[in-house]
Amino acid sequence: MNADKRRRIFELLAEAIPHPTTELRYATPFELLIAVVLSAQATDKGVNKATDKLFPAANTPEAILALGEEGLKEYIKSINLYHGKARNIIALSRILLEKHGGVVPRTREELEALPGVGRKTANVILNTAFGEHTIAVDTHIFRVANRTRLAPGKNVREVERKLEKTTPKEFIKNAHHLLILHGRYTCVARKPKCPVCPIADLCEYPDKTPPGQVQQPPAALLDSSSKTNA
Ligand code: SF4
Repeated sequence: MNADKRRRIFELLAEAIPHPTTELRYATPFELLIAVVLSAQATDKGVNKATDKLFPAANTPEAILALGEEGLKEYIKSINLYHGKARNIIALSRILLEKHGGVVPRTREELEALPGVGRKTANVILNTAFGEHTIAVDTHIFRVANRTRLAPGKNVREVERKLEKTTPKEFIKNAHHLLILHGRYTCVARKPKCPVCPIADLCEYPDKTPPGQVQQPPAALLDSSSKTNA
């Protein structure tokens, strides 16, 4: 795919998604970190439901430690894998207090050293909380990058490398959310909504869904400002 086409794809996505941001609700880097750790193999909606109650009660490392592992579990027990996530959140809160003065660090190395924080989570924090030009490749972005041929790759690291190298500078900060929301609401896994897709003319996917088989994209895509997700 050539550079002009790539730029045009991002221009069209930016027009279609005026507020490219996370659907996880958060107010501080620490809240975002907790929400992203909780969101592994869970829906953002389910995480928001839990954190809507958790954060008013505890939204700092000190307050989370004061809750204790069992106390924390009471707030997050509706979330998949909550036992392990509670353990990691307690451990990472302790490390933040002991090594980082209670604040979320801003480097990949320090973030990835926290329990429950892998490369993808670190990329989301760096991009969403600190405005770094990282692109966390999740299942949605991996699918969109390969289908469109924007950044084809056999694994997430290959797609991440290609996206960071080829995405036009003016779009790299928002690329993560533009692609994730496009994948979540339009270029969905089972039957992509090609007939209503804003980049259908540029997308190189050979098996596009024929016209007449999909509905309009949901309003959520057109106005994600009502949400605050990573
Ligand atoms: S045309 Fe279809 S396959 Fe291509 S990006 Fe749009 S929804 Fe996805």
